[in-house]
Formats: sequence, C-alpha cells, structure tokens
Amino acid sequence: MENKNFRTWLDDMKLSHPLVIAGPCSAESEAQVLEIAEELKNTDATVFRAGVWKPRTRPGTFEGNGVKALPWLQKVKEKTGMLIAIEVANAQHAKLALEFDIDILWIGARTTVNPFAVQEIADALQGTDKIVLVKNPINPDLALWIGAIERLHKKGIKNLGAIHRGFSTFRKSNFRNIPSWQIPIDLKSKYPTLPIINDPSHICGNREGIFEVSQTALDLKMDGLIIETHCHPDKAWSDAKQQITPARLVEIMEGLKVRKPRFENKESVSALNALRQEINAKDDQLLETLSERMLIVDHIGKAKKAGNVAVLQSTRWQEILAKVIEKGEEHGLSKGFIEKIFKAIHEESIAHQEKIINR
Ligand code: PEP
Ligand code: MN
Repeated sequence: MENKNFRTWLDDMKLSHPLVIAGPCSAESEAQVLEIAEELKNTDATVFRAGVWKPRTRPGTFEGNGVKALPWLQKVKEKTGMLIAIEVANAQHAKLALEFDIDILWIGARTTVNPFAVQEIADALQGTDKIVLVKNPINPDLALWIGAIERLHKKGIKNLGAIHRGFSTFRKSNFRNIPSWQIPIDLKSKYPTLPIINDPSHICGNREGIFEVSQTALDLKMDGLIIETHCHPDKAWSDAKQQITPARLVEIMEGLKVRKPRFENKESVSALNALRQEINAKDDQLLETLSERMLIVDHIGKAKKAGNVAVLQSTRWQEILAKVIEKGEEHGLSKGFIEKIFKAIHEESIAHQEKIINR
C-alpha cells in the first residue's frame, strides 16, 4: 500500500483477486493471533483483522484485551507481512491505533450510529494517511452512514472506505443482519469511487451462508470481503457461530466467481445493450401503469369522500393481496416480492386518498 492511495491499491490487487481481510472476531491471546496469521499468510488474505476493544450487547462477556493486544498484532505484521486492521470506537482507541502503527482502522456499526463518537474519532485521526473504513450503522439509514464518512473526509482523511455488514431487523430472518443490498448500491451510485467491502460474517451470523453472500457482493462489484476466521471457531470467545477456519476461507475464495467484463467481445456487449433497452422499455411501461392506477385511486378517493366511506377497507385490501399473490405465483414471482411491491403501492394509494378526503 506504500505510496499508493487506497483505490489504486485495490484496483491493482483486483487484477488477481478482491481485497480479503481475515482474522478472528477478537484477539484472544498472542498465541491465538499468531496461529491464525500463520495459516492465513499464504492465502488471498492480505489484511489481518482482530477486535481489540469489543462492543458487547450485554456486560459480563469478553470485552477484548484492549491495548495489551496491540503488540501482538505488530508481531503478526512482522512475522507475516500482512497489514493489520482493528476496530476503533472512541478517540482514545484511535490515538492508540496510530501510536501502534495499525494500518487500517474501522468504525463499528454501533459507533457509526453516534455522530458524537464519530466526530471525536475523526478529530483524533485528522489528516492521517491510514485507511479508515466505516461500517454501516445498525439501522438501515444511508444518510447516517454517509454522514460518518463525511465527518472523516472533512478532517482530511483521504483513504476512506465503507463496510457493508447488514442491518438489524425485527423481522424473522435467516440473516443475523439483513443485507438490504439496495442501501450499499445507493451508496455506490452516490460515490462511485468509494471502496465498499462486504462483511458476510456479520450479515449471516453463521458459517453456512458466507459463500453465497460473498458471491452476491462480488456480483454487485464490491471491492473486497472481511471474513472472521479462527483456527478453532467453536472455541472462539466471541461470534463463535460465524467464524470459519483458514482452510474454509481458501475453499470459499477458490469457489467465488469474479466476473471481469470481457470488453473485447463486441457481440456480448451489443447483446447486453439490446437487453438493457428492453428493460428500459419495460420500466417505462411500469411507470405508466402505476401512474394510471394512481389516477383511478384518486377517483375512488373522491367517491369515498362523497359517500363518507373510510379510506382503509381492510377486507378489500386482503382480497387484493391474496389475489395478486396467487397470480404472481402463477407468473413465477415469489410471495415475498409481490407482498413488498403491493404493500408499497397500497401505502401510497392510502396517502393519496387521505389527502383527497381531508382536503
Ligand atoms: C466486528 O467486526 O467484530 C464487529 C463488532 O462488527 P459490527 O460492528 O459490524 O457489529
Ligand atoms: Mn464479530
């Protein structure tokens, strides 16, 4: 990374593989980090991660070894040549990370939600050329994520990146933190050169889903992966269920497809363009249909007002939903997808009618 900025370093590396940051959730002992690093050093992982200060949900669990673990990580760097990454959650952590020459600092999801904490970290890191990565906040709030990145940027920190680690949800889900892929996609559209690293470990919360989430991340052109890795995952002091062995990491990396566009193939480019034209035309049709539907909704709103009928007709809505789900399934569209779309349409229709009735 010497004398290169983060973006160039990543793009050069991508010629062989995406950036891989690997290592345990927590630095448990010197022997533990050295054992893991030794197994990682000849893999695609070029950065060694380990949590030194651990934000835990409940007190009384292992909260990290703190500053005494920093020399262990320096030793990892000396012995393996890997770069070192740790989480910082306050100004004191940030200062210590600089003092111990840690290469990559990340701000955790529980910290990104707090503008005061992010600001004090930004102040402590002012002008640093270290890489600073910002995990998404726990809640699905793109503006809060961007805000944290802006606070660092304003302090002259140039080597910035984001980590997508998924979002907390009340809904029942197979994920520990649902990925809500549209949020990192929106971040990328807004800041096309900002590196985005995916964290399948904290998204899945288990080992089984890591490959699939990693593949989706690469399909979406994310720049790298941060994967929790431990030689004895079941015995890990934190996040035991989601950590994988270095051997499994190698298998995963071998199985992942990195899709590089073959620009030289003119035929496939023009086929792709033709398909995109078709999609654009379909999107236009969808918009037209939605707007026509909304005009009818407005007429119904007027009729409801004239007849003094309430806006929400629960049974009618349940009928519509059941019917579209059934029809959707005939067309190969999943129940979850149809439900989401029609709930959004219904919500907007109600808002329209509320306006008309209360006018
Ligand atoms: C971690 O990376 O170990 C961690 C605490 O992650 P997050 O901030 O995403 O919960
Ligand atoms: Mn963890």
